[in-house]
Amino acid sequence: MSRAVLSVGSNVGDSLAHLRSVVDALADVTVSVSAVYATAPWGGVEQQDFLNAVVVVDDPATDCRGWLRRGQELEAAAERIRARRWGPRTLDVDIVVCDDVRSDDPVLTLPHPRAHERAFVLIPWLEVEPDAGLVVDDQIVRADALLSRLDAAERAGVRKLDQGLRR
Ligand code: ATP
Ligand code: CA
Ligand code: CA
Repeated sequence: MSRAVLSVGSNVGDSLAHLRSVVDALADVTVSVSAVYATAPWGGVEQQDFLNAVVVVDDPATDCRGWLRRGQELEAAAERIRARRWGPRTLDVDIVVCDDVRSDDPVLTLPHPRAHERAFVLIPWLEVEPDAGLVVDDQIVRADALLSRLDAAERAGVRKLDQGLRR
């Protein structure tokens, strides 16, 4: 059994519908869902802005690998095409943290190795879990402290929208 924080993103096709597909599929195991945020692309590839959100899930029948698998199934259902790294995609589902698991397995690295430097992950996560923390360089650090370390421009690139994901 496990509890996980999922970061979901989309910048191809009907992005809101792609994010909703995750919330719909995981409705039975969802603890909380953040607002939707429009976010500037991360990683230097010139492309459309993303929509991002965070979904917290908890399920006695799903382990951490199980969340990765379920995320990949949802990406496949959104007909995601794997092209360039950090490039455009219909749906991306990343596991930010899963229980207190720490792993450097490249198939499932936990906590997600870049979550702590991404305002588009930290801002929606803090909205649903204001006391969130994660291990960075062997130390547990509060997500709000991680966010305050980022460039103001990075934070300003994350804008809350009115449309939500729950129907
Ligand atoms: P990033 O990981 O920097 O956000 P990305 O989401 O674009 O980049 P993908 O192409 O979606 O990267 O995923 C590449 C691989 O990352 C996947 O095949 C998956 O096995 C692996 N991976 C490792 N750790 C995680 C994690 N915590 N969550 C999701 N995928 C992970
Ligand atoms: Ca990602
Ligand atoms: Ca991914």
